[in-house]
Amino acid sequence: MSTAEKLHVLFASSEAEPLAKVGGLGDVAGALPAEINRIAEDHVDIRLIIPFHAVIKEKNPPVGLIGSFPIKTKTGQSICDLYVTDLDGVITYLLDSDGINHNSPIYYGDATLDGRKYAHFSLALLEAMRFIDWPIDVLHANDWHTALAVYALKDLYKNDPFFSQTKTILTIHNLPYNGYGADAAMTDLGFSPCSDPDLPDWARLTPLPVGLATADRIIAVSPGYAEEILTPDYGCGLDGYLRLHLDKLSGIVNGIDLEKWNPETDVYIGHPYSIDRLHNKQLNKLDFQREIGLEMNPEIPMLTVVSRLDFQKGLGLIFDALPDLADQAWQLVILGTGAKELEQRAQEFAAAFPDKVVSILKYDNALSHKLYASGDIFLMPSLYEPCGLSQMIAMRYGNIPVARATGGLKNTIIDFHASPERATGFLFEEKTTEGLKTTLEMALNVFKNKQIWYRLQRNAMSMDFSWKQSALQYLQIYQELSQI
Ligand code: ADP
Repeated sequence: MSTAEKLHVLFASSEAEPLAKVGGLGDVAGALPAEINRIAEDHVDIRLIIPFHAVIKEKNPPVGLIGSFPIKTKTGQSICDLYVTDLDGVITYLLDSDGINHNSPIYYGDATLDGRKYAHFSLALLEAMRFIDWPIDVLHANDWHTALAVYALKDLYKNDPFFSQTKTILTIHNLPYNGYGADAAMTDLGFSPCSDPDLPDWARLTPLPVGLATADRIIAVSPGYAEEILTPDYGCGLDGYLRLHLDKLSGIVNGIDLEKWNPETDVYIGHPYSIDRLHNKQLNKLDFQREIGLEMNPEIPMLTVVSRLDFQKGLGLIFDALPDLADQAWQLVILGTGAKELEQRAQEFAAAFPDKVVSILKYDNALSHKLYASGDIFLMPSLYEPCGLSQMIAMRYGNIPVARATGGLKNTIIDFHASPERATGFLFEEKTTEGLKTTLEMALNVFKNKQIWYRLQRNAMSMDFSWKQSALQYLQIYQELSQI
């Protein structure tokens, strides 16, 4: 451990809510360090570091400039500016430089530009800690964007006394996004190809695999996903490596922010409710049906989707399965943005079933609260789902998930088929239209039985999805690593 009494943990991420969020990683980085800080403040000093994205500058949060320092590149040097702010009690550093690209989007969606931005960020975040003389005991990196900080410790900094005590965790939130395309930026920053013989050749100058190869511990965001990525179907070419290094891999399920997602106090909904006041949930549904122009009728089950429109989410299964159930009573509301092709399909679907389907193609936090609160059934037929937060939020609002039995969905939803008394939702195994159709049909039937449906809602709303359990598990790993 470093000279200070508390364990120094640096949590490195590309996004953190409420400063910058694109998906679930933003939720995690905004909540997990804060929860760890609350639980273990007396013996752990956990700090967060993210890039000073343009979107953060626009929000103009109170920040202080700590100072500026250089990082070396092959062609010269890049000057980094280090700022500090507070995020829910956590000291949070914001890093800016030419390399990180002032005023850039969180993600360009371009492999070379993102590769350059995050390769620079990964090196700069280590140099930032040297600059403030804060030795890191545990570096907790997340996904490919910060994986190069882990690799740098074993490559560029392997003989550097400032980092000689630093242990590393790399959490995988989404394995297919591996940072491929960052090789030029890595070479420019002086990285050498990873020589680990267990890695495939394409991976030697790719951020996520080289981070996995050099991390002391690898955490997948659910035990289900930790198992799945050992298989060729889900392993993205790294399953072979992971099978050889099982000893350092495990899974920890994410949590959700129970204050932000609370039907009893939610400021975005007209009629707060709880398990004992579920009739208010119906009032929210009636308001929402009126607002979006659907028939106002509590007996019609409202199906809901709140999601990035990405092929991962299996939305094609919804568009293919629902027409076969068109003679039944249901309404569908989709809230999401993303792939143009899926946005178009969602629009065409709404046009084909104007009395049943509404597609809202935007990112809208307030509206998402209304969907969670008004919906009866939450559709999440993901082809793969490392953890998934939306299904946990939906359950907290008594919006019963119909989801594929994959990754974190199978770790967080108790399936009606397997355990009708304790069930919190409906799971199906097959990645097929038929799989979703049969299970949704079953859910629509169960919806007609008020008593059983109420039991499902009560079970779902009573689940403990707090961050506390995850935070305790991460804390244990920090402690184990600090004793090596
Ligand atoms: P992923 O990280 O793969 O996007 P998660 O289920 O882990 O999926 O997290 C998604 C988060 O983003 C949830 O908090 C969900 O409510 C939110 N979200 C997704 N799409 C939208 C949208 N269009 N508007 C508002 N919130 C959204």
